[in-house]
Amino acid sequence: MSNCTICKTETAEVYIRRDDYAYVRCPNCGFVFLDPMPDAEFLSRVYNEDESAIDVASYPKAASRMRRAMLKALGLWPYYVGRDALDVGCGGGFMVAAMRRLGARSVGIDISRESIKYARARFPRADFVNETFEAFLAQGRKFAFLYSSEVIEHIGDVEGYMRFLAGVAAPGARLYLTTPDMGHPNVPDDPAQWNMVSPPRHVQLFNERNLYCLLAEYGFEVIKRYPKDAPTLQVLARKI
Ligand SMILES: [Zn+2]
Repeated sequence: MSNCTICKTETAEVYIRRDDYAYVRCPNCGFVFLDPMPDAEFLSRVYNEDESAIDVASYPKAASRMRRAMLKALGLWPYYVGRDALDVGCGGGFMVAAMRRLGARSVGIDISRESIKYARARFPRADFVNETFEAFLAQGRKFAFLYSSEVIEHIGDVEGYMRFLAGVAAPGARLYLTTPDMGHPNVPDDPAQWNMVSPPRHVQLFNERNLYCLLAEYGFEVIKRYPKDAPTLQVLARKI
């Protein structure tokens, strides 16, 4: 039994079992999370040492990834042009490179050594770091634009992640965040059949209400939601 990270309600009911993992669901806000939550050491192994760890071969369609990143970056251009931008969980660095081409001073951070190695080799002029959030936060760098796409659902310590985002956000910074949407009508009736239910990589799943609550708690006010037919939350928030 655990308390909901977002609203602190006691949460015990197992909602979905998959492999050796159990997700519980907060009866108050609907937040769905693994219980027990894997610790940082375990998750670091998942991303760095398992056979499934990302390596250079994970980016075989680099040209199409780059095109998609450029299209995405074009839509967000007003928020980072001429400013400092941080891609949190940057993977192979495509978005960092795209924002840089379009005028950002962009930096990428990722937990995966192999991803950062790939990003540095492919985009040698861009800035990539392979550090813990704590180490990076301690440097005191601030960013006007934060990009966090399909990352937060992977993070065991979601409060630590939010402290990181809040800590690196300059006053008035914009945060673009995407994550699967557990509350979307296109999620299967039996949520265990949903491909986003994929432990231990997806350790938690949000809906609109509890995501907005979490963001608000750390000083981020949602100013735009991008409507999607697919079950995904895409929001733009402003750091107050
Ligand atoms: Zn809750």
